Amino acid sequence: MAPKHHPTPLSGGDRKALTKELGRARTMTTILAGQSAEARVKGETLIREADKLLCESWNERMWADGGPIDPSPTVDQAINGGYAWLEIECSRCKTRRDVDLAALRHPPTTFVHDLASRLRCSKCGKAGRRPSATLLQLASRSRQAAPET
Ligand SMILES: [Zn+2]
Repeated sequence: MAPKHHPTPLSGGDRKALTKELGRARTMTTILAGQSAEARVKGETLIREADKLLCESWNERMWADGGPIDPSPTVDQAINGGYAWLEIECSRCKTRRDVDLAALRHPPTTFVHDLASRLRCSKCGKAGRRPSATLLQLASRSRQAAPET
């Protein structure tokens, strides 16, 4: 790209002022880009904190009352907040397993509570049943290396 042409002012004082203004604008380019990057990092940190608090709030409700499961964080909010695992229990045979939210094929905008009807127990599946999952807790890590189904 050709450098932008600024018409040269007639008076020496104006030429000096133009040079100064150009220098200032070029300095500001860098300063403002730096401030933008800083603000974005701060914003992303705040969003991560908000996502973490949303998961903790949901966990407290699940622990205290077991529901209602709706409202809940979305899958990507849970992952962003540091809760990438969902502990579930089969509503029929009570088998527990930990679901890796990052490995799900559901869209990341899916709400965690919508997973209750979508996560199926493999044991009951073999018996031709499709009971819904009871959602227990969001967790930062898996309690056991349970095989994914
Ligand atoms: Zn089951």
